[in-house]
Amino acid sequence: MGDCIFCKIANHEIPAEVLYEDDQVLAFRDLNPQAPVHFLVIPKIHIESVNALDDETFPVVQAVFKAVQILAKELNFADAGYRVVTNCGVDGGQTVGHLHYHVLAGRNLTWPPG
Ligand code: 5GP
Ligand code: ZN
Repeated sequence: MGDCIFCKIANHEIPAEVLYEDDQVLAFRDLNPQAPVHFLVIPKIHIESVNALDDETFPVVQAVFKAVQILAKELNFADAGYRVVTNCGVDGGQTVGHLHYHVLAGRNLTWPPG
């Protein structure tokens, strides 16, 4: 997708603080962090949202959670706990139309979210 900002980050066309990368996913720190640790995990291929996942692309969700697990250990917040969330569509609060999973850690997160 030519004008997708997360595709450009995935292609290293625009800079981001990358924490993890493999052949399927990229993890990078959120520009506007909502917790002491806040990063995004995205598939490298353009998928609009959860709604657009299909049998061909569902395996990327497994790769996302593998990256989450690796980083939770590496950044040392696995035991304290954390939140993984993906916003979908207008009511979900999605502002970037490329599937991404927020990972938030480093403070006691309130529930329910706003
Ligand atoms: P959403 O609201 O779609 O669930 O989340 C989009 C997230 O992407 C927001 O938390 C926002 O701060 C982050 N974001 C938007 N543009 C950029 C960018 O260019 N670089 C980085 N690192 N994060 C971004
Ligand atoms: Zn994209």
